[in-house]
Amino acid sequence: MFLSQRAKAIKPSPTLAIDAKAKALKAQGVDVIGFGVGEPDFDTPRNIKEAGIKAIENGFTKYCPVGGTDDLKDAIIEKLKKDNGLPYERGEIIVSCGAKHSLYNIAMTVLEKGDEVIIPAPYWVSYPDIVALADATPVIVNTSENNGFKMTADEFRRAITPKTKAVVINSPSNPTGSSYSRKELEGIAEIAVEKKILIISDDIYEKLVYDGFEFTSIASLGKEVKDLTIVVNGVSKAYAMTGWRIGYAAGSKEIITAMTNIQSQSTSNPTSISMKASTEALTGSQDAVTLMVREFDKRRVYMVERLRQVKGITCLRPNGAFYAFPNIAGLLGKSFNGKILNSSSDVATYLLDEVKVALVPGGAFGAEGYLRLSYATSMENIKKGIDRIEKAVGMLK
Ligand SMILES: *Cc1c(COP(=O)(O)O)cnc(C)c1O
Repeated sequence: MFLSQRAKAIKPSPTLAIDAKAKALKAQGVDVIGFGVGEPDFDTPRNIKEAGIKAIENGFTKYCPVGGTDDLKDAIIEKLKKDNGLPYERGEIIVSCGAKHSLYNIAMTVLEKGDEVIIPAPYWVSYPDIVALADATPVIVNTSENNGFKMTADEFRRAITPKTKAVVINSPSNPTGSSYSRKELEGIAEIAVEKKILIISDDIYEKLVYDGFEFTSIASLGKEVKDLTIVVNGVSKAYAMTGWRIGYAAGSKEIITAMTNIQSQSTSNPTSISMKASTEALTGSQDAVTLMVREFDKRRVYMVERLRQVKGITCLRPNGAFYAFPNIAGLLGKSFNGKILNSSSDVATYLLDEVKVALVPGGAFGAEGYLRLSYATSMENIKKGIDRIEKAVGMLK
């Protein structure tokens, strides 16, 4: 009865909800195969953990500068220069408690009532809710599977109104694993520059690309685009550091300063120990990343091949992130024990109930008729899980 309208309007993250349900079943001793979770199954690399341990032992456990330590900011600046050809200064970088927190700070800093933010669907579950938390309006642009779930320049242009303030680009994408080519980004950037629309570029899966795909950050397409872009990235996905909670944003000094002020009145600095570990992640050996990508790649190829052999399922081969996003339109309308599966959510529930496979229905990402399966789990689990899906599909009438 004390809840604000804002709090009432927010849905809990559906991906975390599925994960919680699967974990609860596991705790009861049920043999659940989890394809729901969006985090690497690898352990944080040794050198990174050691940097964290050293930080504790050296007493690096006090308040730090609100927007991040200078050594981590310098490591981020070096990374953005080396990997993306992007020059930034310390005043143009903020370190936050995860990339999600950076995105939240951006929303609090640049959005207000009446503003529209263009979000291509399928989208990461948090974008619309973060926009809504800032009292602004998410404008969802449905993309086509035929175009690899990527928003075309035309689709972008058609969604723009005088109220459009920002657009979110997430490449490689969660949930589809699709990645925008340089050329596709150029088409979008050109319009953003013409219409003076802020670009929020979520590059968190940058390092997880396959089939020789070359990642481009939209900010690197020229000075005019860079000035309009806030780059968001972090260590969670590339370095298996989801629990350490370190992400960052790079953008104009004006916006980053305002974000830092907001952060100063909410969380203060991100964890000192995690910042030391993240500095090591960005500046130390990158061998662990290469190994993880190689392993993800094998699982990706296997999972997609297996899914394609299931009757009623088709699946694009994604070139980034660690998700497969199969089309299950061929399963809708079928039934089990007289109960008809009408939606992706029905299918997900059916698979969890009947064969104990946890995955996320496409509806959660604004894409009915699809499922998201994370391959951030062992090859053995993938094999077992898809065997079960095959069996469950075979039981449908
Ligand atoms: C995981 C994820 C993030 C957030 O990661 P943090 O752990 O908060 O750094 C941001 N965007 C997308 C698309 C993600 O999948």
